[in-house]
Amino acid sequence: SIPLSFFAGIGGASRAGVLIKGSNYLETLAKTQSIVFDKTGTLTEGVFEVNAIHHNVIDDKKLLEYAALAESASSHPISKSLRKAYGKVVDRGRVTNIQEVGGNGVIALVDGVQVAAGNAKLMKRLHISYIDCHQVGTIVHMAVNGVYAGHIVIADIVKPASKPAIAALRREGVRSVVMLTGDSYKVANQVAVSLGMDAVYAELLPADKVKKVEELLLKKASGSTLAFVGDGINDAPVLSRADIGIAMGAMGSDAAIEAADVVLMDDDPMKISTAVRIARKCMAIVH
Ligand code: ADP
Ligand code: MG
Repeated sequence: SIPLSFFAGIGGASRAGVLIKGSNYLETLAKTQSIVFDKTGTLTEGVFEVNAIHHNVIDDKKLLEYAALAESASSHPISKSLRKAYGKVVDRGRVTNIQEVGGNGVIALVDGVQVAAGNAKLMKRLHISYIDCHQVGTIVHMAVNGVYAGHIVIADIVKPASKPAIAALRREGVRSVVMLTGDSYKVANQVAVSLGMDAVYAELLPADKVKKVEELLLKKASGSTLAFVGDGINDAPVLSRADIGIAMGAMGSDAAIEAADVVLMDDDPMKISTAVRIARKCMAIVH
């Protein structure tokens, strides 16, 4: 039988905006000592502003148009932001052969012309020599018909609640706070330092994130829990692999919400410590 306090725990959590998918997760959640965060959309807003456009062969208007069109089918925060910066309705009829490369970017035919938009990894993959950009931000390199066409510098901001959320987790006795991201080392370090993370791993492909979590699972104290917090489609495998998967529910992808054990209804990172605290109280009553 399920102790009554479990129902109280799940009920209390749900009133606080935290959906716990089963009473078994309360026990696991109560033992949380390590928290691994995804960056984009989890610790940051996931809404990128365009800071600069450096064009090469075509003008910057055309470059942004190609980017918005090539990104027309993607639900990635970068895609949404580029479409918003373009500002016009994207005519999907002009775009065919769309290929989204996880942790890299997109390749598509726009008006029959091949457009690639993504990070340095994507350019390397396509054997396109790109120009290094030393500006702060996430760099979206662009190639048109195999020729380097320039880059768009975009930047995201850290959620105001991220820092207090991490402080609250430490007060709850969490010992290790780690960040994983597919973004560049430069951007990742800046965010990690500003939040006082214990470790940061960047330029990871979705499969690398799973491997990193597996490595961290081997290193954690026995009997303790490692939780992963994420929001994207790519995060689903990591959410399943961690002892506890926590998804951002409001802006998160359906795949992440499905794979998670705990869902934060309003994407507020502060609610992670709320969930841990409720679980700990609940287990203290049971034992
Ligand atoms: P994160 O780990 O920060 O959630 P992802 O794994 O989704 O990031 O993506 C990692 C990197 O891959 C991004 O920082 C970006 O450089 C590139 N990327 C991924 N998807 C896209 C896209 N649709 N358009 C352009 N670049 C992308
Ligand atoms: Mg993400």
